[in-house]
Amino acid sequence: MDVETIDRVGVIGAGTMGSGIAQVAATHGYDVVMRDIEQEFVENGFETIDDSLGRLISNETLTEDEAADVRDRITGTTDLEDLADCDLIVEAALEDLDVKRDIFGDLDEIAADDAVLATNTSTLSITSIASATERPESVVGLHFMNPVPVMPGVEIVVGEQTDPELVDVAHEFAEDLGKTTWESDDKPGFVTNRILMPWINEGIRAFDEGVATKEDIDAGMELGTNVPMGPLTLADHIGLDICLHATETLHEELGDRYKPAYLLKRKVEAGELGKKTGSGFYEYE
Ligand code: NAD
Repeated sequence: MDVETIDRVGVIGAGTMGSGIAQVAATHGYDVVMRDIEQEFVENGFETIDDSLGRLISNETLTEDEAADVRDRITGTTDLEDLADCDLIVEAALEDLDVKRDIFGDLDEIAADDAVLATNTSTLSITSIASATERPESVVGLHFMNPVPVMPGVEIVVGEQTDPELVDVAHEFAEDLGKTTWESDDKPGFVTNRILMPWINEGIRAFDEGVATKEDIDAGMELGTNVPMGPLTLADHIGLDICLHATETLHEELGDRYKPAYLLKRKVEAGELGKKTGSGFYEYE
């Protein structure tokens, strides 16, 4: 198993994430087959890609010829069988466990024996998705961030039965797309959404409870905590349906996460207050 053997990439779902993943893979020289359930959705995916390529031409990141080459490397389809000769397949369909398990059950039938099967799920269990196949060792989480052409990182999620060699290939593939990776165990929400979703949810709750206007909530977090986008603006970018599904999964799996963390109290009792005392979660000179 080696990233050098990956030439052809399949993408399932031509929505926000699938179209972005297809674009970035094609930009880095891979032949891409992008599949959605209706031709109309495939065409929407190509429109998103064309818009994004147009912006990259305008800001002189790509030439017209390079953008045309990227576009030529992507084929659209509604037929899953067209992914049969893909070396790596990334699923980016709806955030619904049943939908994803059905897709992976079908992929198990049609994908090459040595294909890497990846899911872009935000919060669902990789292990559960993988168990819809007879080859759970070949399934890994490749969690791209939105918008895929812009965001620099990819979270690699390791399922209970994921082959360690496959994890290395997942890191190498994402790095080959110009991304920096980090790794998470298959725990609800992984690193990113376990922390991000309660933050967004609390922003929405603060707005609902009249703490401030939506503009002031976003401004407070942007200007007061130096994040590039406040929670309400970010939720809109992610998609409120995606946020709700993610939050429901976290609620079901993790329960009430709002009590102060045990470790936080212990650190304060110990006088490890962070940078100002030279020691917190990290050590400072
Ligand atoms: P989206 O709604 O924009 O797109 C989903 C696409 O999947 C739609 O075009 C839909 O027609 C298609 N689809 C549904 N069932 C399908 C099937 N059986 N086969 C092929 N295509 C199918 O959603 P999105 O925002 O692109 O999210 C896709 C996945 O990526 C979700 O699992 C989501 O949690 C994850 N994700 C989303 C974000 C984000 O910010 N939106 C970030 C990281 C990960």
